[in-house]
Amino acid sequence: MRALILSDIHANLEALNAVLAAASHWDVLWNLGDMVGYGASPNEVLEIVRPISTLAVRGNHDRACAGLSSTMNFNPTARAAALWTLDELRLDNLEWLRRVPQGPLEPEERDGVRVTLAHGSPLDEDQYILNMRDAWAPLQQMTTAITFVGHTHIQGGFSQKQQDWQEIRPRYRDTRVEEGWTLALPSGTRHLINPGSVGQPRDCDWRAAFATFDTERCEVTYHRVPYDVGAAQARVLTAGLPERLAARLREGR
Ligand code: ZN
Repeated sequence: MRALILSDIHANLEALNAVLAAASHWDVLWNLGDMVGYGASPNEVLEIVRPISTLAVRGNHDRACAGLSSTMNFNPTARAAALWTLDELRLDNLEWLRRVPQGPLEPEERDGVRVTLAHGSPLDEDQYILNMRDAWAPLQQMTTAITFVGHTHIQGGFSQKQQDWQEIRPRYRDTRVEEGWTLALPSGTRHLINPGSVGQPRDCDWRAAFATFDTERCEVTYHRVPYDVGAAQARVLTAGLPERLAARLREGR
């Protein structure tokens, strides 16, 4: 089975369309949340992801943009975008977003492989797993050897085999073209895998990020795909959202 794993789309329609075109065939779609917030196309993005997400967990921006939690702990830019989104969302999209469950979720076992899906840490949906110290507790405590997480907008992850801890960063050559990087997940090793952000990458690579997971081979492939960033930026500016939200898309941070 081939799973398409998307996280942090952040209402970026151009990036999402490029990802879906590049992903070609897949059997299930695991959606790690933060579908909206920051970007200017929340309704268009939800119209696409609602019917095709096999499983979805909510992100902190989904929660705030749906009015389920306060935006007080957001920075002013994120808060402005969340309030704009809450106002902009169609009622059916808003109601759907409010029902997206908090992670972690465990999809049905396939090919003898069990995984967990979460937005932030599987132990705390709001926690960022940025380094080995953050990764330590979830890697030890998760009941599945493989956990997919988002939230940091940084593609890669962490692995542990007994005393051997590794940070995973995909290696790419050319940020102007579509690229992939495959990693085997051998049994006996525990992994936190972050597919990166579709709609607002922060690892200094502007291309939309996503991952695919082959359960038969137990292999994850990280992907980067160029998209029409100018069109996404124009929508942000036309919507009257903060200019920084447009500028950062080109910078990838
Ligand atoms: Zn996010």
